[in-house]
Amino acid sequence: MPFTALGLHPALVRAVKALGYTEPSPVQAGAVPPALAGRDVLATAPTGTGKTAGFLLPILHHLLAGPRGGVRALVLSPTRELAEQIEAVARDLARFTELRATLVVGGKSIGPQEKALRAGPDLVVATPGRLLDLMRQGAARLDRVAALVLDEADRMLDMGFLPDVKRIVSKLTAREQTFLFSATLPPVIAGLADDLLRTPATVQIGRRTAAAVGITQAAYPVPAHLKTALLRHLLRATEMPSVLVFTRTKHEAKKLAKVVAADGFAVGELHSNRSPAQRTKAMDGFRRGAFQVLVATNIAARGLDVDHVTHVVSTDVPDVPEDYVHRVGRTGRAGATGDAFVLVSPAEEPSLGRIERQLGQRLPRVTLPDFDYHQQPAGRTAITERKRPGAPKKLRPPAAQPPRPPRPRRR
Ligand code: AMP
Repeated sequence: MPFTALGLHPALVRAVKALGYTEPSPVQAGAVPPALAGRDVLATAPTGTGKTAGFLLPILHHLLAGPRGGVRALVLSPTRELAEQIEAVARDLARFTELRATLVVGGKSIGPQEKALRAGPDLVVATPGRLLDLMRQGAARLDRVAALVLDEADRMLDMGFLPDVKRIVSKLTAREQTFLFSATLPPVIAGLADDLLRTPATVQIGRRTAAAVGITQAAYPVPAHLKTALLRHLLRATEMPSVLVFTRTKHEAKKLAKVVAADGFAVGELHSNRSPAQRTKAMDGFRRGAFQVLVATNIAARGLDVDHVTHVVSTDVPDVPEDYVHRVGRTGRAGATGDAFVLVSPAEEPSLGRIERQLGQRLPRVTLPDFDYHQQPAGRTAITERKRPGAPKKLRPPAAQPPRPPRPRRR
């Protein structure tokens, strides 16, 4: 189905073409027609499926049809980075129109955001906390908002934003259409959907917690104290043009970035100890290819949209399977392929087991024939073992397994 078949405003079809999209992705094909007809939409879709344009296209279409004046559409996002990306997509899609979008996010000075809001943009993309601040100051008038989007609703829940979201929603007295997008649908989010949506069109792309397609996943068993060494080895031995490395804590991210930089890699750092300017610089550098490696924590990398991520390496096993799915979804975006590796210590095997049960597949275990699993840690150990109840005090190297060489790159 071509984009022209959706019945979108010609300025939007032109923008979509200019972005190089040839046909709607499945989530767009599922969400756009009912949304254009005015229906609410409940979408569960893996990351990287084109969901942002899935809600922005019908919203911009309706904004173009209605009279200008005041904020008429609001997108709420859990993180600043995701909000920035949504606003960038909105600008791209609205480039052949007069519509204006504004970003309202924490961590940046409030003055310019207040001024932009008072000017009455058509669309606001916001994180909940900052928007509430501006609403309390009387700078954000939302009584004309007809369309509301809650993006990554499950993450809003994880981050404790639901009370703020509900407070904001209660002020949207002119709300006519609501979109709820979530990677997963835990009971609380299903309940929220029940409260907010009227007979929504439902779009479900893939399994509820399946990792995005096009991704090859593997687990690398390794004693916790050798994870840093194994990561350095992998970076040297495998061709990884653009790799996103996840750590459990911001301190590990910082230390690991130093270690990897000392090995001669161009590295960016993305975690909450970095200033907004430093975070933007890290994201932009990674996006442009100036940084081959981006070391990040979960929250900082949420929603990160970089087309060319070829590898995602998790240096810890997340306790929550959805977090693993989200990390993995940073590669293989928009139908591309990618590799996702997870370094797993013996104490983390139960967590990996939970993830595997949720994925419905067992990840292949890979040991590297040319890596010394019995070595003492060299000086540079950035990744440390988390204290887990019942974790063995002394960690043994993984049981002997038939060595497998690193897989050759497919591209
Ligand atoms: P999203 O899931 O919204 O974060 O989008 C993931 C990626 O898919 C982004 O890089 C988009 O630019 C890209 N994308 C969105 N829609 C399409 C489409 N119809 N065809 C090709 N790429 C798309």
